[in-house]
Amino acid sequence: MNQPANLTATDFVADAVRADRAAGRYGGRVQTRFPPEPNGYLHIGHAKAIVADFGIARQFDGVCQLRFDDTNPDTEDEEYVESIIEDIAWLGFEPDAVVYASDYFPDLYRWAEDLVKAGLAYVDQQDAATVSLQRGGYGRPGVESPYRDRPPAESLDLFRRMRAGEFEDESMTLRAKIDMQSENMQLRDPVMYRIRRSRHHRTGDDWVIYPTYDWAHGQSDALEGVTHSMCTLEFVSHRPLYDWYLAHLDLPGEAPQQLEFARLELTHTVTSKRRLRQLVTDGLVDGWDDPRLPTLAALRRRGYPAAAIRDFCAHIGLNKTNARHSLEELEAFVRAELNRTAPRRMAVLRPVKLVIDNWPADRVEWFEVVNNPEDPAAGLRRVPFSGQLWIERDDFAEAPPPKFFRLSPGREVRLRGAYLVTATGVDKDAAGRVTTIHAVHDPATRGGDAPDGRKVKSTMHWVSADHAVQATVALYDRLFLAETPGARTGEPLDDLNPDSLELLTDCWLEPALGQAPPGQVVQFERLGYFAADPRRPLWFHRTVGLRDEWAAINRRQQPESAGGRPAAGQSKGRPQAAENSGRPPAAENN
Ligand code: ATP
Ligand code: MG
Repeated sequence: MNQPANLTATDFVADAVRADRAAGRYGGRVQTRFPPEPNGYLHIGHAKAIVADFGIARQFDGVCQLRFDDTNPDTEDEEYVESIIEDIAWLGFEPDAVVYASDYFPDLYRWAEDLVKAGLAYVDQQDAATVSLQRGGYGRPGVESPYRDRPPAESLDLFRRMRAGEFEDESMTLRAKIDMQSENMQLRDPVMYRIRRSRHHRTGDDWVIYPTYDWAHGQSDALEGVTHSMCTLEFVSHRPLYDWYLAHLDLPGEAPQQLEFARLELTHTVTSKRRLRQLVTDGLVDGWDDPRLPTLAALRRRGYPAAAIRDFCAHIGLNKTNARHSLEELEAFVRAELNRTAPRRMAVLRPVKLVIDNWPADRVEWFEVVNNPEDPAAGLRRVPFSGQLWIERDDFAEAPPPKFFRLSPGREVRLRGAYLVTATGVDKDAAGRVTTIHAVHDPATRGGDAPDGRKVKSTMHWVSADHAVQATVALYDRLFLAETPGARTGEPLDDLNPDSLELLTDCWLEPALGQAPPGQVVQFERLGYFAADPRRPLWFHRTVGLRDEWAAINRRQQPESAGGRPAAGQSKGRPQAAENSGRPPAAENN
């Protein structure tokens, strides 16, 4: 079991495992599994399950396999299998084996015959609508199928012929014979097999009958030797069925047990593969790894570090009540991790030209700049400075409003790490828009400090126009405007944010970024963290802004508590912010 060391599950699952070991159950063995259905890409909710499944195995020196729960050929695809394997590896986990529920089709079939022979399962020839109607409901009795008491030999013959392909799709089912009056609907003679002529991504046309989730899941667990089978709370009502099947089969070992925890949901997004698939197929986003999606592939492309996702999942732990976590809480973990690891760079996203009129023509000075104040090992880089610069348009105001301390005519500011400059005037185009800001620099302030100790109220980033590389930068806002998409109308798409993407195509980056490796995440100083697209050169995605919105939310909600902050010893998200008394550039507010 090979995985990151930063996981400790202190929760009810760990307690249950400890109790089992103390009681000598399973000979002290611990085995879990992560069982995705390959019908879509993994999302942030799956990360919680992955961290739980692999984390518990690791904590108790056990085994965790990746099992594809591929029992429904209509929706499954090899593309999803591959993406799931890749995403788990990226998150930092290594399954002890990759296995497929479809590998157990022969075992499941044999066990089903055993139940038929024992009079515990029967072939029902009613259609699905009738079966469903007869199931009844809470407080409403179930109605027994007229085929329920047919002789086992007759069911066995029909079941074998179902498997041989003698009957039409959906014309019969195999059902467990349990209790049509049970208070638990799952026990009202659940379907075990249906007839469906669909090509399976692994077994091809070998089978025309396919097992249901409930019939396949616990039995797959038992065949593999799983001890603790974790799933989400909606399966609580399935647990008696899980146990019933296992109790009536001849198992190779001790029966596994199902443990349920709350699904992870986040505000302003959806974590259902069906919903995500709809966004992709309807073209509302640009594929499964569109950085606005909560899929792991998208979060990776957007620059979320795997460690931040693991830390977040470990922090929220395994709980028993469903609750939506704030997107901002996850972002706080992303910011904390990137603050430690991301090199700082200068980039101007909404440029306006700044010309230093007293700068010697053609002179270029190279400044040594610290890559990451949080990480001395990250070293220095050289940044060129010249008399033609790009600065943020928002960092200049011709007529500054109150409390605006950045550049304006007559005002002196610091160009970070370089010089103090004072604006002297502007050029405008016919429409009255500023095209160039003129300024003078004080040659005695090289490095950014005045020998006479005079203070300036603002420090701004810049890039040398002749040296900068042009890039496209994608800014993202939440994909859904509502905290709980669909809460109003029942349809999440009604809450889709029409302005979730803003593409800035005239951005200028310091030259070091021209060679940014695909996927590299850097901090654009004063603007946020940005990830180089894995495929398109000179294309960056904003990972997350610099402002800790989660801390602000916490302050509002629980003034005395620091609860929910990332625990690691990070410093403030804005190492340069102390010098910036002005409002941050508009790019940060998106
Ligand atoms: P979806 O509804 O998105 O298709 P699912 O539960 O059908 O989700 P599976 O592929 O069957 O997806 O899930 C694999 C594992 O991940 C299961 O153990 C499931 O309980 C868990 N899981 C899925 N979604 C979440 C979530 N939002 N939070 C925590 N665990 C989840
Ligand atoms: Mg599922």
